[in-house]
Amino acid sequence: MLDFSLTSDQRQMLETVERIRKDVIEPNAMRWMDGTFPYDNMHVLAEAGVLGMAVPEEYGGMGASILDTVLVLEEIAKGCYVTAMAVLGEVGVQCRIISTYAPDPFKEKWLPKIASGECILSVCMTEPNVGTDLGNMTTNAVLHNDRVVINGTKTLISRIEEADVYVVFTRVNDIPGSQGIGCVLLEKGEGIPGISTTGTYHTMGGEHLAEVQFDNVEVAPENLILKENSLRTLMSAFNTQRCLNPAICLGMAESSLEHSIRYLRERDAFGHPIGDFQGMRWKAADMAIQIEAGRGLLYRAAATADPFPDPTLAAMAKVFVNEMSIAVCSEAVQVHGGYGFLDEFPVSRNYRGVRYGTLGGGTTETLRNLVGRTLVEKMDLESGIAGLDFF
Ligand SMILES: Cc1cc2nc3c(=O)[nH]c(=O)nc-3n(C[C@H](O)[C@H](O)[C@H](O)COP(=O)(O)OP(=O)(O)OC[C@H]3O[C@@H](n4cnc5c(N)ncnc54)[C@H](O)[C@@H]3O)c2cc1C
Repeated sequence: MLDFSLTSDQRQMLETVERIRKDVIEPNAMRWMDGTFPYDNMHVLAEAGVLGMAVPEEYGGMGASILDTVLVLEEIAKGCYVTAMAVLGEVGVQCRIISTYAPDPFKEKWLPKIASGECILSVCMTEPNVGTDLGNMTTNAVLHNDRVVINGTKTLISRIEEADVYVVFTRVNDIPGSQGIGCVLLEKGEGIPGISTTGTYHTMGGEHLAEVQFDNVEVAPENLILKENSLRTLMSAFNTQRCLNPAICLGMAESSLEHSIRYLRERDAFGHPIGDFQGMRWKAADMAIQIEAGRGLLYRAAATADPFPDPTLAAMAKVFVNEMSIAVCSEAVQVHGGYGFLDEFPVSRNYRGVRYGTLGGGTTETLRNLVGRTLVEKMDLESGIAGLDFF
């Protein structure tokens, strides 16, 4: 039998995060719109255990499931997109790569600090001329005597200034194409020479992104945690982002619906609450229907996602929830009339933040390519829909 109920542990965790959201995160959401990193919120969330969700229990974390992480990110995003994105940086792909592939001394040093909020992480994949097409990246790590030397530029990177550890996707020893891709860990906290920030950009969501240059950055060979031929391995880990990114979008869509319902009840026009007009009720109904459909699909993908999700199901969930959330957040601005366009109104911030969804964590176009490839090239029509791995 299908069971849609949450466990008592999940409910307890969500009650704690909901309280933090209402008391701390939501009232201060405007503070972070200028690119300031939400350290205050991160400290509170670390104390509640949230930042250690992807850290295994033996290193002081929770070792939480992907579904648990989805639920918590969704709750945080109801209050503040910028904070949810900062938390994603700790519970997402970079922490999972460290937990799975880093050598033990590295894990012992950094994983407890990730859980306690003392170590901020950054993942560096995108380059000025290479985003989706990761197999063509030019950043290169070369083994020189007993050191690895890294050169290259990464851009559109979150938390560059704040991060203590960079998880860098890199070419290894100049090996061309997808076969050459591996991963190196840079401990910026140690102050290694050769790392410089060469550009800082303010986003429509509120946070900063930056460009970082690696100029003969030297690390020990153990820091090259995945050598060449590892793009597939990295992409498996990256698939978790395809459940976590839409969780943030879902939270913003839910927040926008809740604010809209309140406004429909409180705002009068022509002597009636605007919620008395059928045209406005249908907006609320459509928003709620879309959210329920997206939540069902995302939870289904997340519930079967440990250790890493089914790529096709996660891609379907991400595409649907990303696009649904943009539509819902846009409609919420419409419900609020001109006030919906003001920075001070949460629906306005949600509308801007939610636009990130279809861009980060795999674009909707490339994920549609993936789903289409599964259907046309792999699906076994003899067993019908069961020909897809996840049924
Ligand atoms: C808020 C935010 C935070 C980010 N944080 C990080 C971070 O921390 N670390 C990091 O490394 N990167 C980060 N990024 C960058 C993000 O990962 C890239 O923007 C994304 O991978 C897309 O790459 P691109 O921008 O170079 O677009 P491109 O790859 O140049 O794509 C441009 C357009 O072409 C489409 N396209 C490309 N290939 C195909 C194809 N085969 N078929 C159909 N359409 C295609 C794309 O879908 C897109 O619409 C962040 C981006 C945002 C917006």
